[in-house]
Amino acid sequence: MQYYAGIDIGGTKVYAVVIDEAGCVLGRAKTKIGQENAFEQVVQKIMHTYRGACRDAGIREEDIPAVGLAFPSPIDRVRRIIKHAPNLGWIDLKFSARLKEAFGKPFFVGNDVNMGTFAEYHLGAAKGHISVYGIFVGTGVGGGYILEGKIVRGLAYTAGEIGHTIIKMNGPRCNCGQRGCLEAIAAKSGMIKYIKKQVEKRGKSTLLEKIAPNWRKSLGSSALRKAFQRHDKLVSQALKRSAEAIGVAVGNIISTVGVDAIVLGGGVIEELNAFFLPAIEKSMRKHSFAGAASDVALLEPRLGDDAVALGSAWFVRLPEKQDMLFY
Ligand SMILES: [Zn+2]
Repeated sequence: MQYYAGIDIGGTKVYAVVIDEAGCVLGRAKTKIGQENAFEQVVQKIMHTYRGACRDAGIREEDIPAVGLAFPSPIDRVRRIIKHAPNLGWIDLKFSARLKEAFGKPFFVGNDVNMGTFAEYHLGAAKGHISVYGIFVGTGVGGGYILEGKIVRGLAYTAGEIGHTIIKMNGPRCNCGQRGCLEAIAAKSGMIKYIKKQVEKRGKSTLLEKIAPNWRKSLGSSALRKAFQRHDKLVSQALKRSAEAIGVAVGNIISTVGVDAIVLGGGVIEELNAFFLPAIEKSMRKHSFAGAASDVALLEPRLGDDAVALGSAWFVRLPEKQDMLFY
């Protein structure tokens, strides 16, 4: 029996799993990142978490032939560079030599949302579908596109970045510098900006002042849910706007690439799924061409916190992906 490890490196934590050949998770471990996010420090935490997951699974490191890693950045495989991970403050970071030294075995490096969607495609909600798009809405909006089992990356490794497609020309400014991106309207960062503007410029009020007094700086999805359930008008408007924009983006995806399933996840959608799924579906139908949306499945993710790490482990487990590994 062989085992595989997958490691999800996020802006705030490293999360690792060890799986068997069938994709069952045998062990898990998690380490916080905090402010110490220089690459060398993160590599130490990656190794610590990886070893923790091996111990949790009762597996020796020698029994793991390959490791998959996922970073919150587009990955340039040819130059072996983590292109831009804003949450970790990394730009054009060469990863290859240090990770090779650390693991001493073949490894793969991918984008986190791609690997999460890959997991849902092979082992989770979208199993059995052919062409699948994953959209994950939290602080930002991430996306991944899997076509017939393959991750579509594109020339600049930005395929699937649905968060930065323009939904509204000359719309609100996005963190990426463009205007009117899906993320600038639909993500939590976009909702905060919208609510702030309504409060500060239009003199409107929101229950968030009581529910989450620090909402201008950091807003949890559960605070959004509480305000929504208490019929906060501004929060309801922000959520409606978000769902409508996601529906437009989904309609555009369906019209341009014709996927047969969309996985809709991330903290914001999962916390308020009873509101979001029907609202997105309504908007998607309105904004897609020639009834193309009618047979497309909208799916909720099934793999939870494991998804990204599990997808990374499953990737290195598949025989057809072996030529994608770094040695
Ligand atoms: Zn953007």
